[in-house]
Amino acid sequence: MKNCLIVDDSKVIRKVARHILETMEFNVSEAADGQEALDHCNDNTPDVILLDWNMPIMSGMDFLKAYRAAAASSAKVIFCTTENGIGHIQAAIAAGADEYVMKPFDRETLEAKLQIVGCI
Ligand SMILES: [Mg+2]
Repeated sequence: MKNCLIVDDSKVIRKVARHILETMEFNVSEAADGQEALDHCNDNTPDVILLDWNMPIMSGMDFLKAYRAAAASSAKVIFCTTENGIGHIQAAIAAGADEYVMKPFDRETLEAKLQIVGCI
């Protein structure tokens, strides 16, 4: 079973994403902001991270930069965002994101992105 960490300050989004991922046989963990996600990654090694952009305490971008600077940061990262400007997407890729998906996403879209990054 592969491990997926969902990082989003919205409880509703985490619940929806968890449901989709569990039907795809992922072992799911959740974090409500970037700092919680970093703490989680200190003790766990997720295979893939679904990462929200806008969060209090620590944003998705700040998390991504800190995570990629760490030694064990092998997880695929899929940015989940409402920020669809090309500048935002380029910045996310430059910071180490593997893919991005626009909110709201459905099962088919998420499945396609997980295939692209090689997690299913
Ligand atoms: Mg958010």
